[in-house]
Amino acid sequence: SNQQLSAQRILREFARWCATPTSKLWQVANEMASDMEAELTPPGDRGGNLGVPVSYLAGLPTGEEKGTFYGINLRGTNFMIVRGKLEGRNEALSDMSRQEIEIPLHILSSDDSTKELCDLMAVEVAKFVGLHVESDGKVGERERILGFTVSLPVDDLLPSSALHSKWRRLSFNDAVGGELAQEMNQALKKHGIEMRVYAVVSSLLVLQGRYYNKESVAAVSLGMGTDVAYIESLPQQIVKESSSEAAETAINMQWGNFFSSHLPLTEYDASLDAESADPGCRIFEKLISGMYLGEIVRRVLLRMAEESALFGDVVPPKLTISYSLRSPDMAAMHQDTSQDYEIVQAKLKEIFDIESSTTLVREMVTEICDVVAERGARLVGAGIVGIVKKMGRLANRKSVITIEGGLYEHYRIYRNYLHSTVWEMLGTDLCDNVIINHSHGGSGAASIFLAASQTDH
Ligand code: ADP
Repeated sequence: SNQQLSAQRILREFARWCATPTSKLWQVANEMASDMEAELTPPGDRGGNLGVPVSYLAGLPTGEEKGTFYGINLRGTNFMIVRGKLEGRNEALSDMSRQEIEIPLHILSSDDSTKELCDLMAVEVAKFVGLHVESDGKVGERERILGFTVSLPVDDLLPSSALHSKWRRLSFNDAVGGELAQEMNQALKKHGIEMRVYAVVSSLLVLQGRYYNKESVAAVSLGMGTDVAYIESLPQQIVKESSSEAAETAINMQWGNFFSSHLPLTEYDASLDAESADPGCRIFEKLISGMYLGEIVRRVLLRMAEESALFGDVVPPKLTISYSLRSPDMAAMHQDTSQDYEIVQAKLKEIFDIESSTTLVREMVTEICDVVAERGARLVGAGIVGIVKKMGRLANRKSVITIEGGLYEHYRIYRNYLHSTVWEMLGTDLCDNVIINHSHGGSGAASIFLAASQTDH
């Protein structure tokens, strides 16, 4: 029918805009690499747009760390206290225990509640340690360091919180992180807990990767939001200024902020961005992460419903609700292998109240999902190649990249596109040099590796 033809036209046009031929991916990778380089040049002549605050950790894990370590992971509306044991020789983290504690609303919504929050965290740490101390009842030498990581979700749908806006851009050891560490240490002291926080950092999975493998150079998180931490060799002049002897540090890239004129942006991305809480920001994240993939699909579907009556004469009202299509549902439709796309129809009913659809329409829905997932995953692949290139490790050396997060873990087709893109870009000669590992550390584990890698001074 005419309607189907017109919908097909919208789909084909969308797919054309979203195309990511290898040459384009290399442009993105090269720009990622040069932006990373630019971020490291002294302030004043910075050219990159990642907005990376460069700061230092006192050491990276060597794989030899031994002992029981405690960590705290501050998240959106809660925090998690964790404890785990390392045995050295790259042996796996064991005896993990974790406890999640909700942050009361009055603390979340107050402008100036850092003190109160630290007080609450200290009290909970005291209780947690009390439950778990070894039989002699003493806190051991190495247990005096509390690893403190922050992983705030990008969820703009959460009630707006003063804490969020303050800490969203927290990197490690910058002013805000320093303030938080200081406040936390005062609270720990006040409650008589013999522990200290040395650094407050964004959740650095790369430290965990490093404990297990010396060739581990970066960790990517792909869930609702996305970020990357990678290992950087410090320039000579900075090594001298820095108190630590380490010649390497972990940098949290905030790669969600990446922008390049080579990104295949469509009108749907433009309107999604314009209507978001932070227009013009986090453009890369809005193309690749779990928070946005389903929303892009919804926007294309809505246009087809409006212009081609894809779902009948009346536009289904629920199709107009922003962020109603979440990436797990998108993945379920995309990965539907049943004969008549029964899962697609069930999801259309469940989410948009669409009673019926033809097989052709359902097939079109899966194609839109495919275009969006393929573009996102291929851009992630290009970004990873860019990082490895920046490190000068594409040829002759192995690099291990750890990836974690619900999107990567559960969205099989997305994951496959990501892997195959890296192979495609590097070709058979180089592709063996980049090894992608899935992390099963679980949330909060990074803070344990942070505690383990900081020396008590
Ligand atoms: P975070 O919210 O901290 O990123 P996770 O790493 O667990 O937490 O990722 C959760 C996100 O992963 C979800 O918000 C969703 O976007 C995505 N996700 C989870 N399950 C699936 C799935 N089955 N298919 C596609 N995406 C998924």
